[in-house]
Amino acid sequence: MKNLLVLLLGSNEGDSLNNLNKARLLLQSTLGEIQISSSVYRTQAWGKTNQPDFLNQVVIMNYTGKANEALEVILTIESNLGRKRNEKWGPRVIDIDILYFGSKIYNSVELTVPHPALHVRRFTLVPLVEIIPEFIHPVLNKSQQQLLDVCTDTLEVTKLL
Ligand code: ATP
Ligand code: CA
Ligand code: CA
Repeated sequence: MKNLLVLLLGSNEGDSLNNLNKARLLLQSTLGEIQISSSVYRTQAWGKTNQPDFLNQVVIMNYTGKANEALEVILTIESNLGRKRNEKWGPRVIDIDILYFGSKIYNSVELTVPHPALHVRRFTLVPLVEIIPEFIHPVLNKSQQQLLDVCTDTLEVTKLL
């Protein structure tokens, strides 16, 4: 797990399935080969709930570069796919969050890893449990399965494909 970069992809604007596909292709051509992809899930919007459902997917890649460089690449891919930052947690063509970078811990505003909200979001935990149920969160010291077991989020998460 040392260099495994675990990313969450999300979209609820435009052709969301196509947006996820395009994001995966751009990630592969910049950061490296995707090793594992979760299923795609249809999920109820979190935080600001009066907006269309999201499609979400977790992907894992082997990445030997630096975390801040990965973030830069990710933000560029988002803007190339048409991401605009308007309202907080509003609808978006594509969102790519870094969930984990192996067991490394970063605590700046620009980059907080593990992602600070992953354990309170079913839409993040359900795909994580699908692909890495045993992986231990390096701060909370619980597996993905244990985090999901105690998560109180009730928003719906349904496997699409
Ligand atoms: P949330 O982080 O709650 O899911 P969001 O994804 O809507 O919200 P964005 O507007 O996409 O938030 O991101 C704002 C900033 O968050 C980015 O410019 C980035 O610098 C910072 N950031 C901090 N930690 C991370 C992380 N782990 N992954 C991605 N971006 C991060
Ligand atoms: Ca996000
Ligand atoms: Ca984001």
